[in-house]
Amino acid sequence: MEKEKMIYHRERLLEMRRDLIQKLNDRYNDAMGLGGDGSQDSADEAYNLYNKNLMLGRVETDALKLRLVEQALQRIDAGSYGVCIECEEDIEEKRLEYVPFARYCTECKTELEKKGLIKM
Ligand SMILES: [Zn+2]
Repeated sequence: MEKEKMIYHRERLLEMRRDLIQKLNDRYNDAMGLGGDGSQDSADEAYNLYNKNLMLGRVETDALKLRLVEQALQRIDAGSYGVCIECEEDIEEKRLEYVPFARYCTECKTELEKKGLIKM
């Protein structure tokens, strides 16, 4: 991959990382702030528990994304960014535009997803 493109993707990844960290912090604080003051009846409590789980679920997805972004940044530093870690072919430019932290080319991703080995 050309240096300019690498720099371009690096910028996008850094921005994505900033956003994710911000989002994770916000959501975590929100989730932790729900309920627990002892003044609610059990229906409220159930509702809050449901909400809390929902939020933590989202936190989990963002945490996974953040890890993938970090790994992509490491691959940029290592000079292996944009190469599929499965088949070692170049990842399609269109795919990197859409998913800058992509580890696999479209073909490998489809294959791995079919086998249930990856979810992102
Ligand atoms: Zn591949």
